[in-house]
Amino acid sequence: MKYKTIYLRRGKDESLKRFHPWVFSGAIDRADEKLEEGDIVKVVDANSQFIALGHYQIGSIAVRVLSFEERDIDESFWLERLQAALDVRRSIGVAGRQDNTTYRLVHGEGDNLPGLVIDMYGGTAVMQAHSVGMHLCRLQVAEALKTVMGERLTAIYYKSETTLPYKASLGQENGFIYGASQSDVALENGLRFHIDWLRGQKTGFFVDQRDNRSLLEQYSMGRNVLNMFCYTGGFSVYALRGGARLVHSVDSSAKAVELVNANVELNFPQDDRHKAYAEDAFKYLDQMETGAYDLIILDPPAFAKHKDALKNALRGYTKLNAKAFEKIHSGGILFTFSCSQAVNKDQFRLAVFTAAAMARRSVRILHQLHQPADHPINIYHPEGEYLKGLVLYVE
Ligand code: SAH
Repeated sequence: MKYKTIYLRRGKDESLKRFHPWVFSGAIDRADEKLEEGDIVKVVDANSQFIALGHYQIGSIAVRVLSFEERDIDESFWLERLQAALDVRRSIGVAGRQDNTTYRLVHGEGDNLPGLVIDMYGGTAVMQAHSVGMHLCRLQVAEALKTVMGERLTAIYYKSETTLPYKASLGQENGFIYGASQSDVALENGLRFHIDWLRGQKTGFFVDQRDNRSLLEQYSMGRNVLNMFCYTGGFSVYALRGGARLVHSVDSSAKAVELVNANVELNFPQDDRHKAYAEDAFKYLDQMETGAYDLIILDPPAFAKHKDALKNALRGYTKLNAKAFEKIHSGGILFTFSCSQAVNKDQFRLAVFTAAAMARRSVRILHQLHQPADHPINIYHPEGEYLKGLVLYVE
């Protein structure tokens, strides 16, 4: 196939030669034809030597690389990439299991498919495009997905209304592009969850906390648990299975409270150990009794969506964690997270340690947490690391 060609400026090909999968607009000298957003382009160096193929987009990241080999981006390309992604999920033990049907099949750059996310919920794949290029390829991706997943796949829900670049004005609506879902219930480590791909955040569920929820389960026996920013209540349901004495779930969204209650009911019907509250986190933490909880989870939304918001975000993490440190029972355990890509591990630690000092508590690190193996990080794309967490023992 013939692709439009982008010529890089001399000396601007170094990061690509180290396999970093983005071309920044400043590195581009010229193109041989007029480019349209979403085009598949060939990127060459100043001597016209092939470097990569990728999707062109308008913005500071101008190309997201699909391949460092000169080849066609055709049916066999999508099949190979999706098969490789599934092989990884099988080998790490999240796919092909009876008791776990919830996992991320494709994690963008981490699977050499920048701009594409696919989460599996039972027989339903929820697919999200973050670039116009991936959007234009959605039907080819869907075909390849059907082949790779075979009979296990009953439906593909395409959910890109809010993730595609706004300025591209594609007017894309969410909807099924293949089949229809037979059930909205999927399994995670043997627990059942309603997945709201129609209205839920992201693809409907925070798949990335699976391992951290399992760890929490091990700490829950006999404890009074506060699950702050509970959303669909993943941590709450694991805490109940782990033998918690009581579990309180808090989220500012009334919809989230409905979701957590439905998920608790699905696994532990009529269990009066659980209560959910629609309340602002800061207000709840201010008003709650000191020592009421000896296991607290803080899993807030990304406080910094961009680098510019970093300072405020760090202040936010410090303030939030300080409140938890002030109130947690002695001998308590705090699971605290940041999913902001713009906040790195050291910055997050500093914010949390500052909070502990403000509350004058003696704190030990028990575990350092991160995103699970089905959200792999391409070693040439360190930006792919986003989820950080600490499990702390608070004396
Ligand atoms: N822990 C969840 C994911 C959390 S997503 C899980 O494992 O699935 C972040 C959640 O924080 C969202 O549900 C959002 O409604 C909630 N939220 C955002 N701002 C909040 C605030 N100020 N107080 C309480 N909840 C808030």
